[in-house]
Amino acid sequence: MLDQAHHILKDIFGYDSFRGNQAAVIECVAAGSDALVLMPTGGGKSLCYQVPALLRDGLAVVVSPLIALMDDQVATLDELGVSSVALNSTLGPDEQRNIAERLKRGEIKLLYLAPERLVQPRMLAFLQKLPIALFAIDEAHCVSQWGHDFRPEYLQLGQLAELFPLVPRIALTATADKRTREEIAVRLQLENAGCFLSSFDRPNIFYRIVPKDQPRKQLLSFLAEHKGDAGIVYCLSRKKVEEIAGFLSQQGFPALPYHAGLPSELRAANQKRFLNEEGLVMVATIAFGMGIDKPNVRFVAHLDLPKSLEAYYQETGRAGRDGLPSDAWMAYGLQDMIFLKQMLANSEGDERHKRVEQHKLEAMLALCEETRCRRQALLAYFDEDLPQPCGHCDICVDGVETWNATEAARLALSTIYRSGQRYGVGHLVDILLGRANDKVKGLGHHHLSVFGLGKQHSEGEWRSLFRQLIARGLVDIDLDGYGGLRLSESCRPLLRGEVSLQLRRDIGSTLPKKPSASA
Ligand code: ADP
Ligand code: ZN
Repeated sequence: MLDQAHHILKDIFGYDSFRGNQAAVIECVAAGSDALVLMPTGGGKSLCYQVPALLRDGLAVVVSPLIALMDDQVATLDELGVSSVALNSTLGPDEQRNIAERLKRGEIKLLYLAPERLVQPRMLAFLQKLPIALFAIDEAHCVSQWGHDFRPEYLQLGQLAELFPLVPRIALTATADKRTREEIAVRLQLENAGCFLSSFDRPNIFYRIVPKDQPRKQLLSFLAEHKGDAGIVYCLSRKKVEEIAGFLSQQGFPALPYHAGLPSELRAANQKRFLNEEGLVMVATIAFGMGIDKPNVRFVAHLDLPKSLEAYYQETGRAGRDGLPSDAWMAYGLQDMIFLKQMLANSEGDERHKRVEQHKLEAMLALCEETRCRRQALLAYFDEDLPQPCGHCDICVDGVETWNATEAARLALSTIYRSGQRYGVGHLVDILLGRANDKVKGLGHHHLSVFGLGKQHSEGEWRSLFRQLIARGLVDIDLDGYGGLRLSESCRPLLRGEVSLQLRRDIGSTLPKKPSASA
């Protein structure tokens, strides 16, 4: 059978050999068994069900959450001469009837559709009358409430196991930690499926995370190494997307904006230009990227903090799909943290969900303040163990300087406490540095015992310290007000002098040049 699979790979898809786990997955599914496949973005998940679809008799049904993704796939398969269709809500009744007829005649090999459509009783009844080769469930992490884009309609896909007991099912995803994996297996009834895990390491990506200082200047000096390259710059807000796109264009980096607030024609046009022209920078919100398969994206820059490591991994993973050296760069700061925490606190959703999101945000912050290899930390989050530091991230290359911040942290905590646990970092730093400005005097804070006691550190050092105290959960941010700080329960041991605290020293806005990738 593998022989036959190789022929299909070569004759139809035009490739010489399978990659990674592809052959093993194909063998499993073609033989009629279920499979759960974890492969990083760009790893080649599509072939894992497309080849078995051609090896087995009957129709392969592919569930995918995004219409754009399906249309791309169908167009590609069309060119290869494989008959496939995507059923989506834009089709008129005549077209739908026509497709139904072709399906009945067995003229279609792959059928792409959204989960909510598949689970309609009429659709299920229709499919039960046809010979089915397999079900492929793409983006399977959408079934997990722990995962970052839960879609309730995925939960209903569990019933396929009972309705089609003899049809193999293959679930695929690019993001799943162990917990999500287990959830997928349970909810999709894949407990007995073959499990194929690929490494999530993207060795050609160089990771760098810098404290945000003057973000535009920092971005420009990062981009100086990427003149003429295609890349993506992610920002949190639509307004900022437009500002940064304008700014980069002025600075000689041809840049296009992309966010959900733009007219859909413009969005589509910008996306098309980014895919087809060389050397464009896409400045975008996270609305951009799902299903974008541009192999030579040379960098992904974040001007704002993603809300989880899953999101960070997926967004940075759009760089370097061609395997050539690429950069993932991010500037993050205190305001990001405050903003995301506030957004979370004000979001809809039950307490459990918020706790999960909170937990994910903390893991993201921890990566920013990491003192060991970024890649080791990132992979560890996905339950993958990288035995040695990678040698290809900012921490491995530049090292990280830590300092004993125990005394300074206690002074900072005490300043928070004595000023009434409701002021933001700016005011607290003014007190520590002994700046008797109007606000400080107006509140009588120049009389506090801590006033001016922090002069041995600079403003930047204090800000860095507060940021790290928040990232480590030693200090909480007041979420309904103006980012005021309060002590959290977990700072007690530090206050009582029972533990010491090592913190990172910020390198600041200077960006040490990394060695060239060939070195
Ligand atoms: P994923 O869905 O995992 O993100 P895709 O299935 O879209 O990845 O594949 C990513 C790219 O790699 C596609 O351009 C695909 O044609 C290519 N590819 C996949 N498998 C192989 C292979 N065995 N040999 C060469 N190219 C491959
Ligand atoms: Zn490293």
